Amino acid sequence: MAAQETVDHKYVYDFSEGNKELKDLLGGKGANLAEMTNLGLPVPPGFTITTEACQAYLATGQQPDGLAGQIEAHLESLERAMGKRLGDPQDPLLVSVRSGAKFSMPGMMETVLNVGLNDQSVVGLSAQAGGNDRFAWDSYRRLIQMFGKTVCEVPGEEFEHALDEAKSAKGTHNDLDLDADDLRGLVDAYKKIFSKHTGREFPQQPREQLDLAIRAVFESWNAERAVLYRRQERIPADLGTAVNVVTMVFGNLGPDSGTGVAFTRDPASGAQGIYGDYLANAQGEDVVAGIRNTVPLQELEQLDKTSYDQLLGIMARLEEHYKDLCDIEFTIERGKLWMLQTRVGKRTAAAAFVIAGQLVDEGLIDLDEALHRVNGAQLAQLMFPRFQLDHEFQPVAKGIGASPGAASGTVVFTSARAVEMAAEGKSVILVRRETNPDDLNGMIAAQGILTSRGGKTSHAAVVARGMGKTCVSGADEIEVNVPAKRFTVAGQTVNEGDVVSIDGTTGKVYLGEVPVMPSEVVQYFEGSLDPEHIDNALVRAVHRIMTHADGMRRLAVRTNADTGADAARARRFGAEGIGLCRTEHMFLGDRRELVERLILARAPGEREAALEALLPLQRADFEEIFREMDGLPVTVRLIDPPLHEFLPPLEQLAVNVAVAQERGEDVAKEEALLAAVRRMHEENPMLGLRGVRLGLVIPGLFAMQVRAIAEAAVACARGGGVARPEIMVPLVGAVQELETVRAEAEKIIAEVVGDSGVEVLIGTMIEVPRAALTAGQIAEAAEFFSFGTNDLTQMGWGFSRDDVEGAFFWRYLELGIFGISPFESIDRDGVGRLVRIAAEEGRAARPGLKLGVCGEHGGDPDSVHFFHEVGLDYVSCSPFRVPVARLEAGRAVVETGGSDSR
Ligand code: ADP
Ligand code: MG
Ligand code: MG
Repeated sequence: MAAQETVDHKYVYDFSEGNKELKDLLGGKGANLAEMTNLGLPVPPGFTITTEACQAYLATGQQPDGLAGQIEAHLESLERAMGKRLGDPQDPLLVSVRSGAKFSMPGMMETVLNVGLNDQSVVGLSAQAGGNDRFAWDSYRRLIQMFGKTVCEVPGEEFEHALDEAKSAKGTHNDLDLDADDLRGLVDAYKKIFSKHTGREFPQQPREQLDLAIRAVFESWNAERAVLYRRQERIPADLGTAVNVVTMVFGNLGPDSGTGVAFTRDPASGAQGIYGDYLANAQGEDVVAGIRNTVPLQELEQLDKTSYDQLLGIMARLEEHYKDLCDIEFTIERGKLWMLQTRVGKRTAAAAFVIAGQLVDEGLIDLDEALHRVNGAQLAQLMFPRFQLDHEFQPVAKGIGASPGAASGTVVFTSARAVEMAAEGKSVILVRRETNPDDLNGMIAAQGILTSRGGKTSHAAVVARGMGKTCVSGADEIEVNVPAKRFTVAGQTVNEGDVVSIDGTTGKVYLGEVPVMPSEVVQYFEGSLDPEHIDNALVRAVHRIMTHADGMRRLAVRTNADTGADAARARRFGAEGIGLCRTEHMFLGDRRELVERLILARAPGEREAALEALLPLQRADFEEIFREMDGLPVTVRLIDPPLHEFLPPLEQLAVNVAVAQERGEDVAKEEALLAAVRRMHEENPMLGLRGVRLGLVIPGLFAMQVRAIAEAAVACARGGGVARPEIMVPLVGAVQELETVRAEAEKIIAEVVGDSGVEVLIGTMIEVPRAALTAGQIAEAAEFFSFGTNDLTQMGWGFSRDDVEGAFFWRYLELGIFGISPFESIDRDGVGRLVRIAAEEGRAARPGLKLGVCGEHGGDPDSVHFFHEVGLDYVSCSPFRVPVARLEAGRAVVETGGSDSR
């Protein structure tokens, strides 16, 4: 009895036993072969060995108990069904052994065709094929080639070399010109290559061939290239692959046979129609290998109308069944069509939207499903302009594609020049060794940014991505000489005023102007393309899906905008207010002078005078922003960065002082600046005198800003507009800090606002871990919280972004400590937990507390889903990301069935 109780774990499934939902167990290929079998489509019989068997094999190096017996049993029933035995000398059953993991890993793993052929069965195969010797020997040489390469690691070039030799001996380039004798000779040559490399003869036992091939497919899961690919694509390493054993059908039996691939719609544009390639008299792998030129699938209609019509019927059926674009592999054996593979096909971003829209029109899916099938990353891709590279443009340098898009323009080397030329209506490319915060205006004015240093996380890259501006960084073949206003590359000199083109997706740099096409999707968002009145399938699909997302989402989407122009643009993109208006840029440019006076103030009245001079300037900035955001909330953050960021760098000052002294010039002012910079130097500026701390030690600073905000709001109200300012205090860690600022601010607001009807909210950023943990207390003094997830991430992890991204993130990503950089996508378990705690405890203390997020995470698809789950009221992101956040906020609802923790 005891023996019978240990029922074998099931490791092998006949195609008739599986279905498309079993991808985890059967892999994508196996699950879909089973699905097609059960639909009654012509699939050659076969079975699938599960991923569990692979996992067990990889863990122990041995086939798990029971597997061998199950393979035997399934093979026998396959043989019975086909009326043939594997490798029978008279009438051999041949099979293919095909890998197939849950996620498709193109070209990563292995397949062996024609298993079961040996020196005897090759003769039987020929006889069964009506004496087609050529076909039989061609199949045999393919087996030795694939088996040698895949199973026994014989270098593939050696086989290819032998094949080339056979062809040139025959004076041809076409493998179809090789006759049976040539191929028999080639089999001998291949066998010699095989034994030279393996030290053994090519295995003649069909069962041994099968077993070795199965093992090789298992092992291909851990091949170096597969490991690398999985790491890049973030596919878990422990899934394993399934193995499919499939009865061979032959596309290489003659002109009435062939093989091909097909798509049910165009995977590039999404257009309906017949897309595919066909190759007569060939086996499947020839199509991919490009051995001979394929013909468009349409031509099959002339060659074999019956199979063609049948194929189109099956394609329609598959689309209807999968309710999506399918891609297909098929083979025709002497006029009989066989389906060898199908899956929901990969597609471009544009096709994803177009197809989702079409399927709604066709009634195959509803709008929720359409929303589910597209994503923010695809939408972001569609918002960049593209190069029209129709004639050959040769790149002169290649850097890092730091922020996608395509930009052409006149080269400039300084921010000021960029602003000047942009004002003249020129499109400019700002070229720098690397950028710093002073380049901001130039970056805004420029069409694109090119740097010779720095990676994907450099200032240029990060800022450009935030602005949605094209950027190539770290193009180190370029030698930038700013004082001489030129750069050199590949022996050529490019001067200010010359034109270059940069591709922020590929990192390529071109001399001269490559024509650029604007993104139609952006034109639509900006309101210059009316989706109801143009014939553009993409714009119509985007419009339709965005409208649905807006209808579904619970999260509001605001924007981060510091200027009226940004605010206006974001509003056209659908922003429902400003979640973060930084005030520090209002201290730059020609206002630096005033800020220096403020910082250097010693004599009584000096500081007040500087603040008084700044007040009207700030007020004007706010008025412009309130006007653009008329009726919508605008969160203004009081000044945040350490003040020394507004002063020139220490080294530069030291040099200036030395040079001026040398010349005998008056250096009093320079010396005072230098002394101030020395005094204000901080070891850890990130953790130093900044944010609310500044407001508490520099009298009058926050008061001036609060007054400017309140006065601007009142001015708007007087002008008939509606300003809804929300004053946000940065870097608060204790409620007492906020209370102090609040008390002063409330007095000023009451005084300025009077009976104008303007309402001003006061709230805080939650970006210091202590603030998150004492949110219940802080909420007593705050009408809103805005999570500053950049700082919260830095302080939660205890590292500064500028220092760590280049230093060790690559290693952490490699080791899997991070799945993705926590600055790109919110770390749900740690930093996210702080957000959750603060949201819950803040709301418990003050029901109706407004909650938002204003870090870069506000525009990251995955993070938007998290903020939806936590129950925030809004996310705020850069203008360019607003549509992405709208889309993802809608997707978050359809994916969670509308539930969140509120
Ligand atoms: P991949 O995953 O790389 O596409 P496949 O397992 O699909 O690998 O096989 C490679 C090629 O061999 C494909 O063109 C496929 O159609 C063909 N092929 C696989 N199994 C068979 C079979 N049983 N009969 C005929 N052709 C086959
Ligand atoms: Mg395939
Ligand atoms: Mg911050």
